[in-house]
Amino acid sequence: MSGLRPAGASLTLPTYNLWTIGCQMNEADALRAAATLESAGFRPVPRASDAGLLLLATCVVRQQAEDKIYSRLTYIAELKRKNPALVVALMGCLVGKNPREITALRERFPFVDLFLPPSDLAPLTAFLQDRGFAAPPPAAGSALDDLPPPPLPDSMTGRAIVAHLPVVLGCSHACTYCVIPYRRGGERSRPSAEILADAAALAARGARELILLGQIVDRYGRDRPGEIHLPELLRRIAQTPGIARVRFLTSHPRWFTDELVAAVATTPGLCPYFEIPVQAGSDAILAAMRRGYAVAEYEALIAKVRAAIPDAGLSTDIIVGFPGETDAQFEESMALMRRIDPDMIRIAKYSPRPLTYSARHLPDDVPEADKERRRVAMEAQLRKRLTEKNAPLLGQTVEILVESIEKTGRRHGRTPGYKPVFVDASAAAPGDLLRARIVWAGPFSLIAEAR
Ligand code: SF4
Repeated sequence: MSGLRPAGASLTLPTYNLWTIGCQMNEADALRAAATLESAGFRPVPRASDAGLLLLATCVVRQQAEDKIYSRLTYIAELKRKNPALVVALMGCLVGKNPREITALRERFPFVDLFLPPSDLAPLTAFLQDRGFAAPPPAAGSALDDLPPPPLPDSMTGRAIVAHLPVVLGCSHACTYCVIPYRRGGERSRPSAEILADAAALAARGARELILLGQIVDRYGRDRPGEIHLPELLRRIAQTPGIARVRFLTSHPRWFTDELVAAVATTPGLCPYFEIPVQAGSDAILAAMRRGYAVAEYEALIAKVRAAIPDAGLSTDIIVGFPGETDAQFEESMALMRRIDPDMIRIAKYSPRPLTYSARHLPDDVPEADKERRRVAMEAQLRKRLTEKNAPLLGQTVEILVESIEKTGRRHGRTPGYKPVFVDASAAAPGDLLRARIVWAGPFSLIAEAR
């Protein structure tokens, strides 16, 4: 087992194992923590039982995710019992930002050494400095409470063709079901100069596509007087040498602007793809969720996007079984999906999250069997529709950015509209942009041959 002595003081380099669950923002935070460890001389190992330090990036957006963390922690408690020198670092949304809750977690999981609130690496850096590792210094003048370490771990150089780049941290919207504001704090946009520097650093390490992240990414810059807004940020990011594609997520219907659609329509490199969660097809449920828009407004917005960019890819989110949702209201969600005809739907069964308004005030009264039935019905409708929708793609030529090479030898990549494609192109390397003809079209992926 590797000890946690500084590199140079030991023949064996310190090792870490990363375990991640949850959204792209969590993944981006986890990679930053991994980069911090690697810049201090740590190297990654695939098995937790071989590591000197365990990093767990956690998510609490649904009970299912939380349950997975607890079962992982049970396993880790056993590893720690066998090896008391093991360092356990818990980061992300389970930790949150509330000191009282962190104290409660310390009592519940005494074998965890470090607790890192979301997007806050200070406890890890302090730990590394304390143990004599060469850790990155705190950020001078950063408006955020996190540190900007190298954006990508060295071990991932060349692998992360698609890199996630957080631009807005936290959220101040307070949808009634959502735990994010309690866990990740209020909305904070990062300075654009810092984001552009990150973009250049990611490109220098081999990234070809950047995905800008924010809980409401469209709000970028609005909380920082004098800062540029998302359309201009996207235009500048798209000019980063080496970057072929740029996307952004997640959009909120209330903050999605015409200027944003125009920027995507006219800027080379900005992909015609939008993630705009609607969450429900019933105005009454949307009001209970406090989303801040009505179904008709959402439909008008999608019509505007499609008028400006007819081939735009569209992804949305739906929650089934929100408190009080009737069968008729669920049918409204089904009908809305038929009308807006998205290319992907992330379907979630409602799960009450501690502290949220809905958990405190709205009884979770839709039986689990009904939630599951609604989820299955919506998934079946989506599958059927995507089968029909993708069929005409057969024989068409699309542009694909190769992201990885599969075990079968096929290249995996995506179209500009974010459809996953497997390509027979034995000469293509990750990072290549190629044109390929679709030879098979299923509901959730395509197969193509390079031209
Ligand atoms: S917009 Fe609503 S659902 Fe999205 S992160 Fe903010 S509070 Fe949560």
